[in-house]
Amino acid sequence: MSLTLLDLVLPSNCIVCGRKPKPICPTCQPKADFAEVEGFGFPVFHAHQHHGPIEKLISGYKDQQLTSLEKTLAESVAQLFSRLDFSEVSTLVLPARNTKNFRKRGFDPAKSLAQRALRVAKLDVQVVQLTSVRARQDQRVLGREERARNVYGSMRLPYTPRGKLALFDDVMTTGSTFSELARACEVAEAKVAFGCVLAQRFTQF
Ligand SMILES: [Zn+2]
Repeated sequence: MSLTLLDLVLPSNCIVCGRKPKPICPTCQPKADFAEVEGFGFPVFHAHQHHGPIEKLISGYKDQQLTSLEKTLAESVAQLFSRLDFSEVSTLVLPARNTKNFRKRGFDPAKSLAQRALRVAKLDVQVVQLTSVRARQDQRVLGREERARNVYGSMRLPYTPRGKLALFDDVMTTGSTFSELARACEVAEAKVAFGCVLAQRFTQF
């Protein structure tokens, strides 16, 4: 577990309740809330709904770059992975990196979480990140239709892996990034077994 400079300078008690110990106290550990997300041509599962403790954890990790929270989040993802059948899955496919966010954060949340969760779950699966075909805006500032337009056709698989694929992203909001993952795999004639996300956010657009 590495402490970043930010962890040392910010008064970081438990990210959820503000009491000690940091970065998250035992009472505020997120509880698993596994469920299937409808609306894709293959099964998709989330480990949590995006509210309560998990929302604060994800925001602390992604927006405040508190990388000491990664362990807790990766354990949630690992628990979800452990419930899924990876026996025919060779590769876990992730969305293309948002360059601006990556420069700001110094790490790629979806990739770091996926790699760590695979290690925790003891799964021997390759991680492949889609490549950007064109620039796109940060999805978080956009509404549903803008998100879909922003992301559609923006990514591609750098090569077609053998075996089946699983898809992963950290947070799903409208599902447009996830649809793009699926579209890119279909174009590459790769077979998707299932998808998984750390947290699904329910929003009204
Ligand atoms: Zn707490």
